[in-house]
Amino acid sequence: MRLLLIGPPASGKGTQAARIADQYHLPHVESGELLRQEVEARTEIGRRIQPYLEQGDLVPDDIVLDVVGTTLGKAAVSGGFLLDGFPRNVDQAKELDVLTAPQGASVQLVIVLDADQEHLLERMRERAAVGGRADDTEETIRHRLAVYEEQTVPLTEYYEGRAMVRHIDGRPPIDEVTAAITATVDDLKGSLDDDRP
Ligand code: AMP
Repeated sequence: MRLLLIGPPASGKGTQAARIADQYHLPHVESGELLRQEVEARTEIGRRIQPYLEQGDLVPDDIVLDVVGTTLGKAAVSGGFLLDGFPRNVDQAKELDVLTAPQGASVQLVIVLDADQEHLLERMRERAAVGGRADDTEETIRHRLAVYEEQTVPLTEYYEGRAMVRHIDGRPPIDEVTAAITATVDDLKGSLDDDRP
């Protein structure tokens, strides 16, 4: 199965992605984590990435492709993956289509976690109180939400007609959201059987 999980900051996307990848034995391709690793390792590219992460802006596409390309390529060859955080805008989705075309491994199912802004801000405050990420400040998260609306939401439209798109309420407790995602995946699994040449 080739899945893409989309969700606003603090929607629980990362947690859900890890669980779903684990449950269906799919390579979990997490762009945010790969980018943070470069920053932590203080690599040359990490130094270029850092300011974008700190401000909650999207890292430029060429840098992201550099960092996730290898992991993505391996995942495409393996035939299944769960993408988490990439693609993040329509240009990246087009890049992904080009990258996966040779293997016939385009995204089959897009799961979108929905949550309203007030709910997300509340969650973010809770997360920050227990020692959240450096980019989990109120100001940054408001900015990340705006970036999400502007750059990432149009992705769902891009995928309409190209893949199956399903919206799931991201507001209930974590276990309930996982159950809803799992039910959706199981329901569609038959039609997601390997369709590669
Ligand atoms: P995430 O862990 O998915 O919330 O991503 C954290 C941060 O990493 C984002 O706010 C962006 O600065 C950066 N990032 C992650 N994935 C991408 C991507 N595909 N394109 C551009 N920036 C990204």
